[in-house]
Amino acid sequence: MIETLKDKPTYLLVVDDDPAIRLLVTESLVAHGFIVEQAETGEQALALVAQQMPDIILLDINMPGINGIETCRQIRQLYTSALHIPILMMTGLDDLDSIQQSYQAGASDFITKPVNWPVLAHHVRYMVRASNASRQAQEHAQETRLAAEVFANSSDAIVITKTDGVIINVNHQFTVITGYQANEVIGQNMSLLQSQQQSTAFYQEMWRQIKKTGKWQGEIWNKRKNNEIFPEWLRISSIKDQHNNNSHYIGSFFDLTQQKAQEKKIDNLAFYDPLTGLANRQLLTDRIKQSISHAKRGQFNCALLLIDLDRFKTINDSLGHKVGDFVLTQVADRLTQFSRDVDTIARYTSDEFVWLLTGLSFDAEQYRKDVEIAAKNVLAKISEPLLYETHEINNFCSIGIAFYSDNISAEQLFKQANIAMHAAKDKGRNRYELFHASLEDKEIRRFTVQSELQKAIERDEFELYIQPQVNIESQRIVGGECLLRWHNSHLGWVSPADFIPIAEETGFIIELGDWVLDKAFQYLKNWESTRFLQRFDCQYIAINVSAIQFAQADFADKLIARITHHQLTDLSQIELELTEGCLMHRSSDAIYTLQQLQALGIRISIDDFGTGYSNLSYLNSFPLDTLKIDQMFIRNGLDDPGNIAIVRAIIAMAKGLNLHTIAEGVETEEELALLRAEDCQIFQGYLCSKPVPLKEWEALLESNNNKINKLNLKV
Ligand code: C2E
Ligand code: CA
Ligand code: CA
Repeated sequence: MIETLKDKPTYLLVVDDDPAIRLLVTESLVAHGFIVEQAETGEQALALVAQQMPDIILLDINMPGINGIETCRQIRQLYTSALHIPILMMTGLDDLDSIQQSYQAGASDFITKPVNWPVLAHHVRYMVRASNASRQAQEHAQETRLAAEVFANSSDAIVITKTDGVIINVNHQFTVITGYQANEVIGQNMSLLQSQQQSTAFYQEMWRQIKKTGKWQGEIWNKRKNNEIFPEWLRISSIKDQHNNNSHYIGSFFDLTQQKAQEKKIDNLAFYDPLTGLANRQLLTDRIKQSISHAKRGQFNCALLLIDLDRFKTINDSLGHKVGDFVLTQVADRLTQFSRDVDTIARYTSDEFVWLLTGLSFDAEQYRKDVEIAAKNVLAKISEPLLYETHEINNFCSIGIAFYSDNISAEQLFKQANIAMHAAKDKGRNRYELFHASLEDKEIRRFTVQSELQKAIERDEFELYIQPQVNIESQRIVGGECLLRWHNSHLGWVSPADFIPIAEETGFIIELGDWVLDKAFQYLKNWESTRFLQRFDCQYIAINVSAIQFAQADFADKLIARITHHQLTDLSQIELELTEGCLMHRSSDAIYTLQQLQALGIRISIDDFGTGYSNLSYLNSFPLDTLKIDQMFIRNGLDDPGNIAIVRAIIAMAKGLNLHTIAEGVETEEELALLRAEDCQIFQGYLCSKPVPLKEWEALLESNNNKINKLNLKV
C-alpha cells in the first residue's frame, strides 16, 4: 500500500562511519515515526540488510573499508529482492564523479552533507512512497500479463460476458471446442450455444445458485457451430465491480466428449461379454435384482431361464475354438432375436446363457404358460442346425427355469435355475425343467459327489468289478464286463449311474477312464502269463468307454501306448463298449478310429443299443462286433409284445450285419428262455452273477470248470 507510514512504521538503515551523523539522522527521523537502525561500516550494512530488509537506506559514500558506492553495488547484486529499496547516497563531496558512480552502482538518489535536517524526513518519506508506487505498478502489470497469458493459453475454453449474457471476449480454446471464431461470437448472446437439452427448470436453478453464491458448476450439453451437441463441464463465476454489483460473468468449460466415450468403453468392458455382445454376469445380476424389486412391488413378474449348451465342450475340443466361438455368437444372435426388449439375455459362463424374462403376469397359470412357451422356443431355435463352412453343426441345450417367489434373492433365483438346469441334463438333455424344492437335495449331493470324485483316485477308492457274460447255448462264461465301483468314506457306495455323468460333465472321466483301462489291462496281463482265461475258454474282457473319452483326437494313440506299456500281446481279449453317442459326432474320425482299433484285433461293441438315436442304417458304416441290447427292454418285461418285437428286430438286424448280440439285465429263467427262443447269443445279468470283485470272478470261472449250472446261478 502506498500509505505505508500510516499502516506500519518505515524502517530505515543509516550507514555512516561518523557517529554524529548517525545520531543526528536517528534523532531527526525517529521524531517522524521512523524506526532507525545504524551501521558503522559497509560490511555491517550488508549483514543488516540480509537480516531484515529495510524500507530505505541512507548510505555514506566515504567510509573506511568498503565505501558507500561499493556497498550499494553489493546490496543490489546480492539481494535481488531488495531491488526496489531506495538507496539514498550521502556525500559531502559535491563532485559529479561520485554521484555518477553511485547511480551506476544502483543508488536511487543522493543528499549532500551538510544535511538539511528539517527536510530529510520529507525527502525520505517521498522516496519510500515513490518506490512503493512503482513497485505496485510493476506488480500489477505483471499480473495483467499473467492473466492475459492464462486466458490465451488455457486448456479450458473461457468466455466473458456482460450480465445480460452478451459475449465480450473468448479465448482460443473456445474456438477449438465450439468451432466459433472470436469475431463470430463477440457481441452475440451466450444462448447461441444452447442445445435445448436442458429444461428451463435446469437453467432457473443454475441462475438461482449463481445469484446466491456467485458460482455454479456442472455438466451441460451445448451445441457447436456445426450443430453437433456435446457434453461439457462448465464453471460460471460472477465478477463484481467496486460497488459490489455484478458486472460480468466468466464461464470456463472443457469438452467431455472423449471422457464420455472412454467411460462408455470401460462400461462396456465391465458389463458386456466381448465375444457375443450380450450382458455379462455383473449386468445380469443387477438386472435380476431390479426385476425382483419390480416383482416385489407388484409391478410385473419375472422368471429366469438358464440355458446350457449340451456337449459344447465336445464341439470346442473336436472342431476347434474358432468353430466354438462361431456357435456361441450364433446362439447369442438367435436368443436375442426372439427375446423382447425388456428382457435381458446374458452370457453367464462359456456355454451358459441366461434369459431373464420380465414384464410377466402375476396370474399363476398365465405366468407359467408364458415361461414354458419361452423355453420351448429356445429349445426349437437352438436345435436348428448351424452351418459353418461345409460343416453342419447340431446344437441342443438344457434349460433350468426358476420362478419368482416372495422374498427370493437374485442369488437364490439363479441357484434354483442352475439346479433345474442340472435336472434337465440328468433327464437326458435337450429339454427344460422347472425348479422345485426336491431338486435342491439332489443338487447338494451332486455337489458333494463332484468334489469327492476329484480326490478318489489318489485315495484309492475305486475298484474294478467284473460281471460275467454267458453264452446262452453252451452256458459257459465267454467274457466279462468291467464295472467301476466307488466307495467313499463320506458318501459310502456311490453308483456309477450317479458319478459317471458328473465325471463326464467335469471332464474327470478322462482321468478316470484311463484308470479303468490301466486296471483292466493289469488284470489281462496277469491272466495272459498263466493263460487263465484261455483255460476256461473265456475270450475277452469288456471295458466301458465314455463318449467324452472317445472324442479325444488321440484316443486310439493313447490306447495303443497303454497296451504297449502293459505288454499285452493278444488284443482280441479286449472289447470296448461304446455308446451310440460316441458315433454321433465326428463320424468320419470315429470310423477311422474304429478301423485302427479293429485292425489290431480289438473288439467293439455298442452298449445300451436301442435306446439312443437308433438310426439303424448308420451302423452299417462302422466296423463293429457286438450289439448289447439295452436292459430296458428286458426290465420292462419280455411279456410285452412290443418289447419282444424290438428285441427280435435288433437280433435280426445284428445277424444281417454279422454282429453278436448280448442281452443285458437278465434276472430270470423266463427271460433267458425267451432270449434263447429269439436266438440271442449271450446274456449278462443277475441270473448268472452280479458284478463281482476280481477274486470272485476268478472263482466263478474256476468253479465247475466254467460251466454255469443251477449251482452257480445267483439272483
Ligand atoms: P452299463 O454299461 O449299461 O452297465 C450295466 C449296468 O447294469 C451295470 O450297472 C450293472 O451292474 C447293471 N446290471 C447288470 N446286470 C443286471 C441285472 O440283472 N439287473 C439289473 N437291474 N442291473 C444289472 P452299474 O455297474 O451300476 O453301472 C451303471 C453304468 O455306469 C454302466 O451302465 C455304465 O454306463 C457306467 N459305467 C460303469 N462302469 C464304468 C466304467 O468303467 N466306465 C464308464 N465309462 N462307464 C461305466
Ligand atoms: Ca456297459
Ligand atoms: Ca449297458
